[in-house]
Amino acid sequence: MDETARTSVYALDRPTAITYPALAGPCISDIAIIGGGFTGLSAALHAAEAGASVTVLEAHQPGWGASGRNGGQLNPGLKYDPSWFINKLGEKRGKMLVDLAWSSVDRLANIIERTGIDCALRRQGTIRAAVKRDDIAAVEATQRDMRAFGMPVDWLDRSALAKLVGHDHYQGGFLDHRGGDLDPLRLALGLAKAAENAGTAIHGNSRVVSLRHDGHNWVLTTNAGATLKAKRVLVCCNGYADNLIPGLRQSLVPVFSSVLASNPLPDNLVGRIMPGRQSLYESGMVVVYYRVDSNNRLIIGGRGPMRPTTSPDALKPIARHAQSLWPELKQVGWQTAWNGRVAVTKDYLPHFHALDDGLYTLYGYNGRGVALSTALGEPLAKLLVGEINADEIPIPASTMQPIALHAFWPFGVHATIAMSRLKQSFRR
Ligand SMILES: Cc1cc2nc3c(=O)[nH]c(=O)nc-3n(C[C@H](O)[C@H](O)[C@H](O)COP(=O)(O)OP(=O)(O)OC[C@H]3O[C@@H](n4cnc5c(N)ncnc54)[C@H](O)[C@@H]3O)c2cc1C
Repeated sequence: MDETARTSVYALDRPTAITYPALAGPCISDIAIIGGGFTGLSAALHAAEAGASVTVLEAHQPGWGASGRNGGQLNPGLKYDPSWFINKLGEKRGKMLVDLAWSSVDRLANIIERTGIDCALRRQGTIRAAVKRDDIAAVEATQRDMRAFGMPVDWLDRSALAKLVGHDHYQGGFLDHRGGDLDPLRLALGLAKAAENAGTAIHGNSRVVSLRHDGHNWVLTTNAGATLKAKRVLVCCNGYADNLIPGLRQSLVPVFSSVLASNPLPDNLVGRIMPGRQSLYESGMVVVYYRVDSNNRLIIGGRGPMRPTTSPDALKPIARHAQSLWPELKQVGWQTAWNGRVAVTKDYLPHFHALDDGLYTLYGYNGRGVALSTALGEPLAKLLVGEINADEIPIPASTMQPIALHAFWPFGVHATIAMSRLKQSFRR
């Protein structure tokens, strides 16, 4: 089994794991949710609060997937600029999506406050940094675009940026004041608890292995042979999608993102490395992202091996990158390493599909899903309880389209990453 979730810094911080029991007997509920990450747990919380009976079935335990082991960065928005969505989707639909995606951190913060989740939430902002001179124009254009929509973003020239991060490797960047960071496993477990308090039944170790319609209900069967009947089903498996829904796994590429956590920084480096305590992600094809967490550890992520790994040695390129930014890190050492699957889609956008009568799925956050997936829980819940229609979900409904030559696509991703690394090494 994939053990990478156990070596995340967040799992190591929690000596006792919370275990939800497997689904046992035949059960019935209004709504079944497959997958206990942020998408599923937030949808469950909101649907239960609206009065529905909800059951979450998770193959491992809540937060086991990307949700409990990501970089913990809260980065508002999507891969393209806000005006791109208005041009593509029109004023009304475009605004709906822009509003949700760029206010996702505010929405997440409201959920955390309302439910009292203790997950070390901080709102010092998110920095988008231009690595090369050639990147400045694009990063600046994004900042201008966001400002035109009234968003709270400020341009940082090279020296202003250097003061916030503690090195002068970047050409410039912008600070989005709405961003921040948190402990994602504590968020996932907090959402599970809040959903449970609202009446949701949560089951771990319950992989759904078959899904069929009996004319009235969806009938879900788990790996242990237990069944659940429900009128509506939301599939939230993202990068961990298996073959339960034909074609779903082939509609995304599960790209591994790897993370290293340093030992706690010594006193002389606490104010030297990321003194502003923002989250940061770099420009470029191979995105490197980092922050210093509330325990003063540098948490830095990027691309590593395209297979599960728990060894800091396997992530030497990320360590070298960190040490090139702050050479003093060499004395600090790495506490732990892990990786997990990001669901990448062909257009780098999240996809929402109404698959059948009462059967829905949403996936494809492309590495930017902590705030967005949690924020989407509310509209998804409204859909599941019948308050809104599928065309009112801010991510426009589309038809599921398996990627042609899917089996070969990961190699294309590999090749792109290798090429990008090579180009970057020439630029240094
Ligand atoms: C290493 C890493 C770093 C990241 N860093 C950031 C970051 O800093 N900021 C950011 O915004 N985003 C980040 N992301 C992305 C973010 O974590 C995800 O977009 C988000 O967590 C997706 O949540 P989810 O609920 O859709 O999916 P997941 O959390 O992946 O949950 C899917 C769940 O479905 C379950 N499942 C699968 N099949 C079945 C089945 N048949 N039956 C039952 N259960 C099933 C899996 O066990 C899994 O727990 C990162 C991702 C990774 C992997």
